[in-house]
Formats: sequence, C-alpha cells, structure tokens
Amino acid sequence: LLSVIDRTITGAGARLLAAQLTSPLTNPAQINARLDTVEYAITKENLRNEIRDALRECPDIERALSRICLGRGGPRDLLALAKGLHVARSIKQQCVLHHNQQNLAQEAPALLQDWLEGLGNHAALVDEWQHALQDDVPMLARDGNFVADGYRADLDEFRHLRDHSKQLIADMQERLRKESGITSLKIKFNNVLGYFIDITATHADKVPEGWIHRQSLANNMRYTTTELSDIASKIADAANRALEIEQEVFAALVAQTQTHAPAIAATARAIAQFDVGFALAELAVDAQLTRPVVDDSTVFAIERGRHVVVENALQRDTGDAFIANDCDLSEQQRLWLLTGPNMAGKSTFLRQNALIAIMAQMGAYVPAHKAHIGVVDRLFSRVGAADDLARGRSTFMVEMVETATILNQSTDRSLVILDEIGRGTATFDGLSIAWAVVEYLHNQIGCRGLFATHYHELTELTDSLAQLSCYTMKVKEWKGEVKFLHQVEAGTADRSYGIHVAQLAGLPAPVIQRSQAILQQLESEKHAISHKGMADSLPLFHYQPEPASATPSVVDEKLANINPDELSPREALEALYNLKALSD
Ligand code: ATP
Repeated sequence: LLSVIDRTITGAGARLLAAQLTSPLTNPAQINARLDTVEYAITKENLRNEIRDALRECPDIERALSRICLGRGGPRDLLALAKGLHVARSIKQQCVLHHNQQNLAQEAPALLQDWLEGLGNHAALVDEWQHALQDDVPMLARDGNFVADGYRADLDEFRHLRDHSKQLIADMQERLRKESGITSLKIKFNNVLGYFIDITATHADKVPEGWIHRQSLANNMRYTTTELSDIASKIADAANRALEIEQEVFAALVAQTQTHAPAIAATARAIAQFDVGFALAELAVDAQLTRPVVDDSTVFAIERGRHVVVENALQRDTGDAFIANDCDLSEQQRLWLLTGPNMAGKSTFLRQNALIAIMAQMGAYVPAHKAHIGVVDRLFSRVGAADDLARGRSTFMVEMVETATILNQSTDRSLVILDEIGRGTATFDGLSIAWAVVEYLHNQIGCRGLFATHYHELTELTDSLAQLSCYTMKVKEWKGEVKFLHQVEAGTADRSYGIHVAQLAGLPAPVIQRSQAILQQLESEKHAISHKGMADSLPLFHYQPEPASATPSVVDEKLANINPDELSPREALEALYNLKALSD
C-alpha cells in the first residue's frame, strides 16, 4: 500500500508517511485537521506545484543534523542543512505570496498554519552558512577547501601563499631545466620524499653540483636542493595553516548547529509534514480519491470503494478496470457474511474496506466515490495462511491464535475482517468454530465486520442474528464457462466453483474429472440430509431438550407423590432406597 500511495519527494517525507500509515489516528478532530490540509493542497494547484518543486531541492535535513550532532558530520552535511533551511524559507514565501499575508491566516487550514510556524526562521543561520561555505564541498572536513573565499582574511592569506608557492615551484622547474639543460626535468611531490627533482637516469651526468641525491629508481634519479627544501617547507606550512583554520571554522559552525539543533529539527519535521500533506493531495488527484467523512459515529458506509493496490496492478499488468463495490456496515447489518466462489474477489473486497479505514484515519483521501467512517478504534484482520513451524505452531494453530486475539481484544468500535476461519481442520470442527465465532462477534462484541467463508451453511445464521447480512460475489455461467464479475451483491452463493479454479490452476484432467464425479456424489448425499437437518443434528447449532415420554413410569408416579419439604432426613433416605429398588 505504501509503495502505491507514496508521492512524497523527500526522504523525511517518505518516512513520515510510513509512520502515519502505520499509526492511524482515532480522534476525528485530528483526522479532519489533516484532511483539511489535503483538501487545501488539492484546491491550490499552483501552490502545490511550487512547493513540490521547492521540495525537490531539499536534502535530508534530519540525517545531516543527526550526523552533525553525533560529531560524525562533514562539510556536506552543513551545506545540506543550509540548503534545507533555505527550502523551508521558500515554502513559507510561496504560501505568503499565494495569499497576501492577512488572508493566509484566514484561508489556510489551522494545521497548515502550525506547519508554517514549525518551519521557523533561520535566515541568519542560512546567510552565515552560505557566506561561510563554498558551493561544492568535500565530504570530510579534514580534506579542507570548503570554506568560501572572503569568509576569513587569515585563511585567504595562507591560501594565497599556498597557491602562489605552487607557481614558485613551476618557475623553479623552468629555471632548473635551463640551468641543467635537462629539458625533461620535473619537480614532483610524494608523501615520502615531499618535493623532489625528478630526471631520467640517462641525464645523470648532467646533474650540477649542489644537488642532493635522494633516490635512484630503475629509470629515474631523484634529487633535492637547499632552495627546493625551503620552498617546500613554506608551502607545507601555508597549506597546514590553511587547513587548521578551515578546521576551526568547521568546529565553530558545528557548535552553532548544535545550539540550534532543536529548532532545525522542528523545521525538518515541518518540511516533512508539508511534503506528506501535498503528496497526499497529489495522490488524491492522480488516483481519483475522495475526502471521507470521519466522525464519532459507528457508521461504515463506502460507496463504490476500490482496492488501490489491486487496481494499480490491474492497470499496470492487464489494463483491466477494477470493479468498485459498496459496503454498508450500518447498525442493521453490522456484520457481513460474504460467500462466493474462489477467485471471485472476496479477499480483495475485505481488504479494500480495511485499507479504506486505515487511509481515512491516517488523514488521506480514500479510493471510493463516497465514504463515511465512524472512527475505528482498532482494526483486526485474519487473512493469511501462514504458519510458524519453527516456533512450534502449525498453520491451524496460527489461525486460531489470531482468531483468539481478535475475539479477546476487539471492541464494539473495532473493524474486523476475517478471511476464512476453520479451513485448516476437519470440516465439522472448522464449521463449528466459524459458526461460534460469528455468533460471538455478533452477540458479545458487536463490532463492524466482514466475514468471508466457503461454509455456505453459515448463512442460516441470519435467521437468528438480526444484524448479520449475507452478501455474495456475482458470477456468470455461460456454456460451461464461469466468469467472475467481482461484484458484491446481497444474497448467498450456492457453490464455490473450486473445481473450476483447480482446473484453471492446471490440475491434471483425470484429477478434475474424478473430483467432479466425487462432488456429484457428495452433493446428492448432502441433499438427502439437507442443511437444516445437519444443523439440527449438531447440538451446537440448535439445542432442544429431550421430549418427555408419553406415559409416566412407576418411578415418575412415586416421585410425583413425594413432597420433600414434609420428609424427615430419615424418611427421605428411605424414599430414595424405595425409588432405587423400583428402577432396578
Ligand atoms: P479465494 O476464495 O480463492 O481466496 P477470493 O474470492 O478471495 O478467492 P480474491 O483473491 O479476492 O478472490 O481475488 C482474486 C483475483 O480477482 C484478484 O487477484 C484480482 O486480480 C481479481 N479481482 C478481485 N476483485 C476484483 C475487482 N473488484 N475488480 C477487478 N478484479 C478483481
């Protein structure tokens, strides 16, 4: 879901979006405040584009700040902070320009004004950094060459000397070439020898007096002179001094950053909030989402809802349209029992409604034509066929543990989606558990819920559970072909078309033919018993006391004549012995 809905531009925005998705709100006022910002960003298209363009220039402030605060930062982190804070300033300016100053306070939603406040004002700091740093800086402070020219006079002086000395070396090389007549002579530098004169060995006989031999290689000879050593130490000193000053500047800027760290962090957060709010608006426009009505009620009414992830995949892979479906879990039909063939779209429908609830409560627009959601306090789902074998839990055990969690923790404000229960055990065990779970959710918990099942027997529960409604997925059968229409409609399914799906999946023909024959036989036997009969035969489904026999026995007659209140303990014991003797 995150990958489909993420239109954020900055790293911090993406992280905040993920955090909001994983912790939806339960307070309608806070949710609506977020929705107000999304609506605002949708209506202000120009502003949205400008702010998103500005965000594209925004480096990861949070990361740079934490590196600087931990003492692991470099000049690039400082530059990132400068650029980031500059973006904050331009976002603010865009908003002010868009409205004139007074209107901004009246027209922009309250939460957006909080974000604007959060952007802070770091103009002085940004100016200082921009003044202090070059446009292109190295990663590590120890490499130097990141402080801008003109920021510190002493630094400029040493740099000049350093760079001028380089010219001196070049001049000296030229002079030595002339003096010695060795035109290929070079003055080079390495970390071991420092500066040295390098000539090819063939010119060794032309070396003048006074040159000091340093090294002989296979083809080259290396020398120095007193003059070269002097110049070299001057250069080294200038470069070192320049580097020292740059380190000082860096330390001062780091200290300054650390003092302002809380305010910079607040700015980073505000930028991320702008990013998320405007990204959700972009998404709403792109994916045709609607603003949900979110309140304190227990309504859950979705008109023409869609599953954004499946819709996206269909568009990408097959170009097929996603079929939208309604879902109304109003008071009279709080719990839906969804039956229907395999592959018809039951799981998709269950999950799309859960995702719509999450999206609405994170403050996003939702994939539906209309949506009214009374906040859900917790969302429970049992969907996967997972196991946890390594920790000693079988597939069925995991299924039951999940179901137990739902039944123990959900409340009447929760939304529960249960995609098949009791499939991993014997049919009657599974059916019984599923039956009891539906009853418990309906009678004890009273939550809103969607329950998908292939146990068509469960649909009988609508007789006894007033708020349970049956829905099914529409299927069209034509000339032996089955077409799944992916449409939810009131009613119950009569069959699951499991064998048809098995055939689609590539089970060998003999297996398919044999299963068809077995199915026919089982179905004819089942009709002989009938569903009702089966339900009645299971005490769990229908409890009726044993009917009293028509003629009372001798024991019954004797019992009827005994009045326990009139008997002494001894008489009572005697009567009991008599009864026992009669029954033997
Ligand atoms: P099973 O009972 O076998 O688990 P199911 O009824 O739960 O099946 P889904 O897994 O939800 O079926 O859907 C099967 C496939 O049908 C999906 O992967 C999707 O491609 C397609 N599908 C489901 N719902 C829709 C829809 N509303 N519009 C278009 N395609 C859909």
